Amino acid sequence: MSDTILVTGAAGFLGSHLCDLLLAEGNSVIGVDNLCTGNTDNLKHLAGESRFRLLEHDICKPFDPGKVEYVFNFASPASPVDYARLGVETLLVGSAGTINTLEIARKHGAGYLHASTSECYGDPTVHPQVETYWGNVNPIGPRSVYDEAKRFSEAAVVAYNRYYNVNTHLVRIFNTYGPRLQAGDGRVISNFMMQALRGETLTVYGDGSQTRSFCYVSDLLDGIRRLSKSDEHLPVNIGNPTEWTILECAREVLSLVGSKTDVLFQPLPQDDPMRRRPDITKAKTLLGWEPKISLRQGLEKSLDYFKSCLD
Ligand code: UDP
Repeated sequence: MSDTILVTGAAGFLGSHLCDLLLAEGNSVIGVDNLCTGNTDNLKHLAGESRFRLLEHDICKPFDPGKVEYVFNFASPASPVDYARLGVETLLVGSAGTINTLEIARKHGAGYLHASTSECYGDPTVHPQVETYWGNVNPIGPRSVYDEAKRFSEAAVVAYNRYYNVNTHLVRIFNTYGPRLQAGDGRVISNFMMQALRGETLTVYGDGSQTRSFCYVSDLLDGIRRLSKSDEHLPVNIGNPTEWTILECAREVLSLVGSKTDVLFQPLPQDDPMRRRPDITKAKTLLGWEPKISLRQGLEKSLDYFKSCLD
């Protein structure tokens, strides 16, 4: 059965891939984006697609897209560099924006899935991170505009389920990469890939011993789509549990690109989480999901895209 589905943050990295997936299933998609970090280039291949339209709108202002069967709320600056630049905007989209989109789901009796984040765990003291862990977040540090907005959003989403019986879902997304990740967004994969392709040294922050676990975009969206159709209302981690130090990740990128340059150590940003790895037992059990694409394979799949971003 085909639905009409609202996707906020549609011009972003994940939002645009989600639109593609939903359209490929035969649905109609209304994308919304205020383009503060999103890029219409991510949607240009949909120009002739009659089942897709993009509304340029800031979800912090209430709006009604008309009857929709489902809402995916993916609007927010998401790279540490972007949300540091757009601090108050990030707080607003993760509070007023989330409430406004929940109201749309409530009004139309639509399902709802919110893109939450491993940042809810902060700099975790429980490893790997399980959904029942409440996190270790600095509420006033440089990352707080993102972390606390996402934590408020989780409270709002759970409340709309608890008080208004909206059919809500919460995915906690761990580091994800792939084509359309903005080359200049300051994230580790985009920085390393672009630096390696330009023959520059790779900027490793701190001593590179901090860890992340990288999921390829198609794996992530498969998990998210399954969750959106499930009966689970509490948070579910979706991410790749293979953990890499940032230094190992730098070496993997250098070897894939075939670059002879090395790494350059730079100061570690304040409150940079020292480790991050999802426990995906819940996703495996509930959704029958697990990632299939290794970091090496995913970087290979992303190589042409990053090459196309070279000046
Ligand atoms: N990082 C790095 N060099 C870079 C960009 C990021 O060493 O050029 C590190 C960063 O300090 C963090 C990790 O890579 O420990 C992941 O950073 P990213 O900004 O991609 O996202 P985060 O997981 O911190 O939200």
